[in-house]
Amino acid sequence: MPKSGQSIRIGITGVPGVGKSTFIEAFGTYLTSLGKKVAVLAIDPTSQQSRGSILGDKTRMDKLAVNNQAYIRPSASGKTLGGVGQKTQETIILCEAAGFDIILVETVGVGQSETEVYSMTDFFLLLMIAGAGDELQGIKRGIMEMADAILINKAEGDNLVKAKQAKREYANALHLFPAKESDWIPKVELCSALEETGITEAWDIIESYVIKTKTTGYFDLNRKRQTKDWFYKFLHHQILTSFYQGKETSNKLKELEELVLNGEISPFEASRIMLTQPS
Ligand code: GDP
Repeated sequence: MPKSGQSIRIGITGVPGVGKSTFIEAFGTYLTSLGKKVAVLAIDPTSQQSRGSILGDKTRMDKLAVNNQAYIRPSASGKTLGGVGQKTQETIILCEAAGFDIILVETVGVGQSETEVYSMTDFFLLLMIAGAGDELQGIKRGIMEMADAILINKAEGDNLVKAKQAKREYANALHLFPAKESDWIPKVELCSALEETGITEAWDIIESYVIKTKTTGYFDLNRKRQTKDWFYKFLHHQILTSFYQGKETSNKLKELEELVLNGEISPFEASRIMLTQPS
């Protein structure tokens, strides 16, 4: 733990197909060219069922995968005590202690994983593409609200005009959101992960965010808050797990459940009995 905490943790999200892997490949490669060590982690809620797509993850970023300055970790899989986020959270700490300067945490799924990534990173980057409505992109207002920057990807060729239009629209939309606690005004930029444009600009934005929030103290405050939240989250998981693993628990639960369903006692009374009366 004392050796951790020195990195910049960047969350990257966007619907499947928007270009996350392609972007991370280009962005990560650029960062290594600056002499930085880059770790790429992923949160994939679906991998709990499919046991992770180890091969898929590795081959999605083939340049970065063979880069000595980079480490790509396949999505956490299997049942973990603290949910899919726990392993990623622990890996962040481990990567930092191993000397990685930048940790990119990608969400592979859509839905709850964005919030998990948001709760373990310093900067939250949302990738979008022009021409698809928000509904089509499956991006909820809440996710846009979390973003510190929106990158409109695939902004090249015939798509450039639409991308510029989208940039204006998103910039306007972001103005309508309440000011962020960090005091940071979210940025909207164009990029083409494929043609590797907008990559240095993306890094410039993140660097200025870090400088600003370190100066105001928000960076450290946010880290502390996140660490505290994770502590309680894991604690709650462990309390629940040890409770349900308790001897006699399931029999007693069944009995009480039946009483509740028969209308003999209230759910509240049943839970009180469950926790206070030895079986
Ligand atoms: P992910 O599912 O968000 O990780 O998206 P991928 O990185 O796998 O990209 C999905 C598809 O979009 C692939 O066929 C990419 O080659 C393509 N793609 C990604 N970035 C760009 C870009 O900047 N421009 C264009 N034209 N295609 C891109």
